[in-house]
Amino acid sequence: MGAEKTENDLPDWKRLLEESIMEPDALPSSHPEKLKRVISRYPMRINPYYLGLIREKNDPIYRQSMPDIRELDDKGAAPDPLNEEGHSPVRGLTHRYPDRVLLLVSSECAVYCRFCNRKRKVGRPGMVTDRSIEEGIDYIRAHREVRDVLLSGGDPLLLEDARLGEILSALHAISHVEIIRIGTRVPCTLPQRITPELAGLLQKFHPLYMNVHFNHPLEITAEATLACNRLADAGIPLGCQTVLLKGVNDDPSVMQELMRKLLIIRVKPYYLFHGDPARGTSHFRTSVSRGLNIIRELQGHTSGLCVPHFAIDLLGGGGKVPLLPDYLQGREDGSLLVTNYRGNAYRHPDGTDD
Ligand code: SF4
Repeated sequence: MGAEKTENDLPDWKRLLEESIMEPDALPSSHPEKLKRVISRYPMRINPYYLGLIREKNDPIYRQSMPDIRELDDKGAAPDPLNEEGHSPVRGLTHRYPDRVLLLVSSECAVYCRFCNRKRKVGRPGMVTDRSIEEGIDYIRAHREVRDVLLSGGDPLLLEDARLGEILSALHAISHVEIIRIGTRVPCTLPQRITPELAGLLQKFHPLYMNVHFNHPLEITAEATLACNRLADAGIPLGCQTVLLKGVNDDPSVMQELMRKLLIIRVKPYYLFHGDPARGTSHFRTSVSRGLNIIRELQGHTSGLCVPHFAIDLLGGGGKVPLLPDYLQGREDGSLLVTNYRGNAYRHPDGTDD
């Protein structure tokens, strides 16, 4: 008879997940009942690693992870702002763009971010099942135009290595699938999950890309650095999708520090998203002008590698649209009238298309 596994045998990341705070009772609050109602609608999970990054109440880590009674008061916004369900030919798969699909493979995350645009779904059993994953893979197999599959959730990296390996193998075996991407916040919220074994598994499925998700420089810790370096060493190109969040990172100097630190841990800033109008998240949403101003403060003031695309994901499923500050002011006598990053005006000769 084999010995029973004890808690100490669990890999670090599983023990951290098990020790997560899932109930508001652990939190001091002047509205304990209301907070309970928040959690019953939008689940809570803060694992001890991410909890340990909080320095004080209402700091950027606290705001991203601690439930807030304002989540319940937000009645106006849409529960499914990107109309993912409307573009879902089979449950758990979104096919919005011609050549690529989004496949949900996990309903769990290492932290339930309070600003999440899928907060209506994450953390609920039944959001993703073995059957929905199987049907999604069958759909991809039958649609030869799908050349790019993005795995998401929840967080795909909360699956066990063996299960993740099965899903990746099935997709990798489909000849028209040219690339696989994984969207994950785990290198930020539970970097201990990025074990050498996981990195070794992932590198069997190249070309495999990963979009990670950091929102504040305080999240770039020694652990996150190790995790990202391990993934980069496995040959996985890493891009970051950051969300512009009021009171967290809506400040040019914070954003510049974040983007520079991302490059140091070998992550390319990829997107800065204006917050989606998902129900329960309005208190995080800034104006678009604030985002444009941040881009203006980055562009030219620091390396172009540090500058992400600022984008809105259109309400109702219109897709992502990049937004840029207006550098091109007009045209005159065959010349472009352009302002540079310092706000100085220049005339620049235009070419011809003949
Ligand atoms: S990790 Fe991603 S999917 Fe999960 S709660 Fe956070 S933002 Fe949402």
